[in-house]
Amino acid sequence: MNDILPDQTPLWQWLEGHVRTVLDSYGYREIRMPLVEATELFKRSIGEVTDIVEKEMYTFDDRNGDSLTLRPEGTASCVRAGEQHGLLYNQVQRLWYAGPMFRHERPQAGRYRQFHQIGVETFGMAGPDIDAEVILMTARLWQALGLADKVSLELNSLGDSDDRRRYREALVAYLESHRDALDEDSIRRLEKNPLRILDSKDPGTREVLAGAPSLSEYLGDESRTHFQQLCTMLDDAGVAYTLNPALVRGLDYYGKTVFEWVTDALGAQGTVCAGGRYDGLVEQLGGRATPAVGFAMGIERLVLLLEQAPPELPSAADIYIVAPEQAGAALVLAESLRDSLPGVRVQCHCGGGSFKSQMKKADKSGARLALLLGSEELAENSVTVKPLRGEGEQQRIARDELPAALQSRLQG
Ligand code: ATP
Ligand code: MG
Repeated sequence: MNDILPDQTPLWQWLEGHVRTVLDSYGYREIRMPLVEATELFKRSIGEVTDIVEKEMYTFDDRNGDSLTLRPEGTASCVRAGEQHGLLYNQVQRLWYAGPMFRHERPQAGRYRQFHQIGVETFGMAGPDIDAEVILMTARLWQALGLADKVSLELNSLGDSDDRRRYREALVAYLESHRDALDEDSIRRLEKNPLRILDSKDPGTREVLAGAPSLSEYLGDESRTHFQQLCTMLDDAGVAYTLNPALVRGLDYYGKTVFEWVTDALGAQGTVCAGGRYDGLVEQLGGRATPAVGFAMGIERLVLLLEQAPPELPSAADIYIVAPEQAGAALVLAESLRDSLPGVRVQCHCGGGSFKSQMKKADKSGARLALLLGSEELAENSVTVKPLRGEGEQQRIARDELPAALQSRLQG
């Protein structure tokens, strides 16, 4: 679980700001859920026989003896909240959330125990158009972040529950005939959750899987049409994708569309954004049948990508006030500038020190201008403006002309 330090937060904020702007421009609204839910919720939604529920959850009993879990993802919580507050039945919702998720995994670059996701969930829309919309939205986001040439889209359809039932039988029959070559986890899943085996990273099992029947051959008419229409919409919108029949996702609730945005610039942790359709989940959690599509992106992995060619980020201040003998007057000046120049960041030197040491701090602050307030300036009600980044001349300016002068210097 990482601290995110002040040298790192500007990039996080830059990223989060862009995501917000894009989500906003599609009419998505924010929802905020608790970090903790009843353990049952995740077992029932993500699935008992998944890596997350079997191995990765932070689960504890609270003082009442209720089993609680730090949320490992946001979809289950979002459905729980939507259902609890009557947001889902017979309605259309486009929602997003952001925040920490918790999974007890082996930490490595791009994989942490507390990590952050921005997630999107939509409810009440059954057609492929909303699948396409959320994918187009992510594509626009990569553009905005300057990551478009680093990520690519992989797409698959898992069919509906009937399709998967028929496929499961065929898959189990095939895997049974190769039982000896499967790893232990996969043998156990053969009975409980055979589709999970498709996600196995075990080399022996992967070899067996290479000859397994493919889910795409088992899609019924409805799933096939849905998927074809989605592909056509993406073609029309000019979004490139690769069909990946092996893409199954690590959570049980997905059906029909699944997608991932992947990169080869992050080593093993290649998936930066993943999602799909989960029409069965609301009903499974006790609501009425409600179609739904969503995705979540991992902020840390996006930050790692951005760090490879960082965008230009603002420093903490525009103006730094240096006033060795005039600390009180400097604070008053700073307040008056914050009044007259909203949005301009003013940092006032505090803690004393010589003119020289204060000027050093001014330089380090990244501010573009230093304002010098000495006894002479105070006596004639003026301030000396000193450019710190090379542009313009040092100049003494009367106090009542100061806001306008600063504004034009900061714009220049
Ligand atoms: P992976 O296959 O990498 O374990 P996942 O299928 O478990 O991912 P999801 O549950 O779909 O991931 O989460 C969506 C996104 O959240 C991932 O694509 C990834 O970017 C990010 N993510 C998931 N787990 C972690 C983690 N432990 N640390 C950092 N980011 C993560
Ligand atoms: Mg995982």
